[in-house]
Amino acid sequence: MPESKVAEDITVKRTICPLCATGCNAVVHIQNGRPVRIKADPKGPVPATGCVKFTGALDYHDHPARLNFPMKRVGQRGEGRWERVSWEQAMDEITEKLARIKDKWGPEALLGVGGSGHGPGDPNLWRFCNLWGTPNYFHQGKNCGEPEYFAEWAVYGAISEIGNTPVPGVTKCVIIWGSNPPVSYGSNWWKAAEAARTQGMKIITVDPRLSESAKGSDLWLQIRPGTDGALAYGMLKLIIDEGLYDADFVNRWCLGFEELKAFVAQYSLSKVEAITWVPAAKIAEAARLYATSKPADIMFGLGTAHQGKGTFSAVLGKAFLRAITGNVDVLGGNRFGDVPEQTSFVEQMHWDKIIDHPERTRDNVSSEVWPYGSVKALKLFREAMSNVYPKGLPGPAKYMIYPAPSSVWTAILDQKPYPIRAALIQASNTLGTFANSKRIAQAFTSGNLELLVVLEQNLTPTAQLADYVLPAADALETPNIFVAVGYWGFNDLYNAIPRALDPLYERRTDYDVFRDLGNRLGQQGYWPDSLEGWYDRLLEPSSVKFEELAARNDPQLAPPVREKRYLTSGFATASGKVEFSSSMLKKLGYDPFPQHEEPAWSPVSNPELAKEYPYILITTGRNRHFQGSNLHQIAKLRRLHPHPLVQLHPETARQLGIAEGDDVYIETPVGRVRQKARLFKGINPQVVHAEFGWWYPERTPDSSLSGIWESNINSIVPDGPEHASFTGDSSFRALLCRVYPAKESAPGSIAH
Ligand code: SF4
Repeated sequence: MPESKVAEDITVKRTICPLCATGCNAVVHIQNGRPVRIKADPKGPVPATGCVKFTGALDYHDHPARLNFPMKRVGQRGEGRWERVSWEQAMDEITEKLARIKDKWGPEALLGVGGSGHGPGDPNLWRFCNLWGTPNYFHQGKNCGEPEYFAEWAVYGAISEIGNTPVPGVTKCVIIWGSNPPVSYGSNWWKAAEAARTQGMKIITVDPRLSESAKGSDLWLQIRPGTDGALAYGMLKLIIDEGLYDADFVNRWCLGFEELKAFVAQYSLSKVEAITWVPAAKIAEAARLYATSKPADIMFGLGTAHQGKGTFSAVLGKAFLRAITGNVDVLGGNRFGDVPEQTSFVEQMHWDKIIDHPERTRDNVSSEVWPYGSVKALKLFREAMSNVYPKGLPGPAKYMIYPAPSSVWTAILDQKPYPIRAALIQASNTLGTFANSKRIAQAFTSGNLELLVVLEQNLTPTAQLADYVLPAADALETPNIFVAVGYWGFNDLYNAIPRALDPLYERRTDYDVFRDLGNRLGQQGYWPDSLEGWYDRLLEPSSVKFEELAARNDPQLAPPVREKRYLTSGFATASGKVEFSSSMLKKLGYDPFPQHEEPAWSPVSNPELAKEYPYILITTGRNRHFQGSNLHQIAKLRRLHPHPLVQLHPETARQLGIAEGDDVYIETPVGRVRQKARLFKGINPQVVHAEFGWWYPERTPDSSLSGIWESNINSIVPDGPEHASFTGDSSFRALLCRVYPAKESAPGSIAH
C-alpha cells in the first residue's frame, strides 16, 4: 500500500528520491507533517540503493538554499536584487509579456530550455512549447545522447534500451564505449554486470582513461579522444574480412552491405592504430571477442557523442557494428526500448502539433545549418517510421527538433536568422551545463531578450540572471508515474507514486506552473486541473486511474519483455530494413558513410594550436557525489568532494611543477578556470580530464554569480559550427588546453 504506520505518529509513504531524473524508489517517514527519514524502497522497480547522493535527499528537501517564493528582479540582471511577489502577480506579468512577444515576433521568438530534471517535471515545458508553436526548445539531452540516437534512428529506426543493462546468463559480451556505468548509472547496472560476469560475460571498455569500468574489464582499449569512429570502422573491416558478421541477418534484413564493406576497406588496422593510439592487436582482439560472443551489447555512451567533428563516424560506426552482428533488438544485446503503449504519452506530448501548428511559419534557428535537428526532419521521420510507429514518434522525438544552442545564443545576440525575444528555463543551470557559458550569459543579459523566466529549486547562477524566478516543488511534493527516464518516453514502465508531502512554502509543481500559463495563453482543454488528472488521461489505454493504480500493492505497469519486433513489423525505416546507406541521412543532405574526421582542436587537425595548447582536454568529468551542476550545496556530499578535480598523469604534473592537490589553471583559447590537481597514472600523459558543473552555492548571494567563472569548465569550451557535430552540439571531450600552477590562492573558502 502507498501508506502505512511504523508508530502512532509516524506515517510511511512511498515516494521517489528528489535528487535526479532517475527518480529511484524510496519510502519516507513523516512525523508531524515533516519528513524525518528516507530510505530505499526495495519493492520498487528502481530502488534507491548504492547511491551516495541519496544520503542527502532529506537535506535537499528543505535546504536553506531552496527557492520557496516567486521573486522578481528589481536591479539589473545578475545584480542579485529581488522582491518577493505573489504567484498571481508573477503569472499576470509573464503572461502579458509572452502574449505581446508572440503578437509582435511570432511563436518562434520563444525559447524553452529544459534541464536534467529534478523530478517528473520535464514534459510540461515540451507540451507547452509544442502547443505554443515554437520549435526553439531544447533540453539537457542536447548535450547527451542525441547524436547516438540520431545514428540509430537513421540506420535501424529505433534506439537501444537506455543503459542496456546486461542480462545475467544471456549477455555474452558488453562493450562499454563512451560511458562509465559504475559512476554514472548507479549501482544496479554494475550489479547486473557482475552477475553476468559470473556466468561468462566478457567486458570490453573503450575509454581514454583507466576508468572504474576499465578497471573491471577483460579488455581495455585506451583510445585517443575524438577517434572512436576510426576504431569502429577498423573493427567493422576486420569482422567483415574474417567473415565474423551475421550473414543470415545481413542478407535478410540489411540494405547497403556491399557499400559498407567497400567503405570500411580503407580502415586497415595499422591505419586505425596510427589514428587512435590503440595497438592493432588489441583492436583485433576486441573485434573478434565482440563478434563471436552472442548476444553482445554495445553501450550507448556520451563519450562518443561529445567529439565535435569526430562524433558522426563514431555513433554511426557503433550502430553499424550492432547491426552487422545481428545484435539489434535482441535480448541481452542491443534490445530496442519499449515505445509507450500503456499510456498515451506520445499523443499527449503533441509532437504532431508542432509539425502542423497554424501559427508557426519558421523552422528552428539552426535548421538550415544542421537539418538533422529540425521540424523538417521530425516530419520526414514521422512519415518514414509510420509503419512501426503509427501514433507518431516515441518520446525522444523531441531531440529531432532541438536547435543548436550556439545558434540560439546568436538568435538572441544578433537576432539572426530571426529574433528570439523570450526564454522559459526549467530546471536547467544553463551556464554550468552548456558550452561557452560566458556567451550564454551575454545572451541572457542582452537587452534583446525581453523576458527571462527560470523555474527552479535553487538560485543557480542561471536563475540569478532571470527577471522572474519561480520556486519548483521537488519529487517528494509531486505525484509521479514515470520510472527512470521513462518520462522522456524511452520506455513503457510506470510506477504510480502519490504525492508524499504537500509542497512547502509557496513551491509549485512544474505541471501546475505550465497548466496555469497554458490556460492563460490559449491552451485551455489541454491541461486537466491536477497532475493526477493528466496522469488519468495518460493512463486511458490501460483503463486504470492514477489513484487506483497507486493504491495497489504493486503499483506498476510493466511491459512484457519483447525482442526481434522487426520480424512482424519490419524496421522503422523507409525500406523496413536496416539501412547502412541511410535514406534519411541522404534526404537530409548528409553523407551516410562519413569518414573519420578529426575534432577541430586536435594535435592532428591543428598542430600549430597544439604547440601552444599541448594537452588533449576532456571536460565532462562526473563524480558520484553531485548531479551535474546540482547538489554542491549539500554539506554531507560536499565534504566528500570539496573541490573540482582535474586528472593529470604524474609525469605530466612533474614536468609542469604540479603536485597532488595543487590549484592549477586549465586554459583553452576561450579562457581559463581553476581546479585542483589529481594525479592519476591511468590517464595518457597527453590527456587531461576536468570535472564539469562546478559553482559555489555557499557564496550566494554575491556579485560573481556564485563563482560560476572560477571553475566551471564549460566557460572555456568553445561552441559554434567549427566545433559542432552533425547535430549541432558541441565538442566537450576532444579539445586542446594547457595547464599550469595557479600561484594565487583561491578567493574565499569553498568548504561548506
Ligand atoms: S540515482 Fe538519482 S534518484 Fe536514484 S538515488 Fe541516486 S540521486 Fe537519487
